[in-house]
Amino acid sequence: GSTIGILGGGQLGRMLAMAAAQLGYCCHVYAPDGDSVAADVSAGFTCAPYDDTGALAEFAAACDVITYEFENVPVAPLPSLGDTPLRSPARALEIAQDRLAEKRFVEQHGGTPAPFMAVENEAEFTAALERIGTPGILKTRRDGYDGKGQWRIMSPRDTEDLTLSGKQLIYEGFVDFTAEFSVILVRGLDGEIRFWDSAQNDHSSGILSRSVVPAGAAVASQVPAARELAARVAEALGYVGVLTLEFFATEKGPVFNEMAPRVHNSGHWTIEGARTSQFENHIRAICGLPLGLTDTIVPAVRMDNLIGEEANDWLSLLADPANHLHLYGKAEINPGRKMGHVTRLLTDGHG
Ligand code: ATP
Ligand code: MG
Ligand code: MG
Repeated sequence: GSTIGILGGGQLGRMLAMAAAQLGYCCHVYAPDGDSVAADVSAGFTCAPYDDTGALAEFAAACDVITYEFENVPVAPLPSLGDTPLRSPARALEIAQDRLAEKRFVEQHGGTPAPFMAVENEAEFTAALERIGTPGILKTRRDGYDGKGQWRIMSPRDTEDLTLSGKQLIYEGFVDFTAEFSVILVRGLDGEIRFWDSAQNDHSSGILSRSVVPAGAAVASQVPAARELAARVAEALGYVGVLTLEFFATEKGPVFNEMAPRVHNSGHWTIEGARTSQFENHIRAICGLPLGLTDTIVPAVRMDNLIGEEANDWLSLLADPANHLHLYGKAEINPGRKMGHVTRLLTDGHG
């Protein structure tokens, strides 16, 4: 069989490797942390820093195709992968890992982000506060996830304790949204695009807590425009694989939040709830196989993340026959850490 290389060692890589195994592929994980829940279910593991060009070259030589499950893999060392194809493309990674580049790129393709300004010093922050006002959110341009590296500025007084000292930041206006949703698509090697139903997403303290399909009416009316944008972005990038765009549904239409050049937490419901999961279709796409159908196979689906201590309850969750329990096999429970998720197939929107 062929070998799929995965850059990144977390639960997304784990679920990709499980989908790949079903189709007869072996996976080889590359991650800097020796404690990898993706490597636990894979045939090969290279534990090395992302900028170790020798280790990257050796890894690539052992793989037929390479993908990534972590959007902050540094782009500069990736040419060391040589001739082994990287799917999704490095350009998608480069754009998605910088909030400033990402918002500009999406704007160029007709999308509407929240008002934003780059901030690297006090003067730029003052200018951004004057132009955009409060409330707003100051975010690190790079490396943020699960709401980390963000400071909510409810009033100008909240800026007093902040020291900016040359960090690359972005200040964006706070969006008054009715709901949040995501568009998840898969694009095949031949350019064909398929969408899953959009989930309505609830966050708590910046972390996704629940995704529900179908989304409510306020979201449903905005999905077509959001899909058009996502498809334009995918085409412009020559994208192959699963791509996610996060949106706020507002009275003025969909406001783009951010994109992820990978499978997404808000698509975990597709494992049981869709004809083909996001993980399987990502594997199909990067391997040049025909894509599977993406339609939802039940009237409604709900996915709840198990964050930190919530996973301690797993035995009672397992005892409920309506639950599909997924545990990621992480050794340590930390507050705010994604430990697993539970999916329920519902007969209507309220089960
Ligand atoms: P992820 O884990 O999704 O990558 P992240 O750290 O990149 O998270 P964001 O998606 O930027 O963070 O923000 C996390 C959440 O914070 C959003 O889903 C939303 O609930 C809230 N949020 C972020 N930016 C804004 C904004 N401009 N206006 C209103 N709410 C926001
Ligand atoms: Mg993000
Ligand atoms: Mg997000």
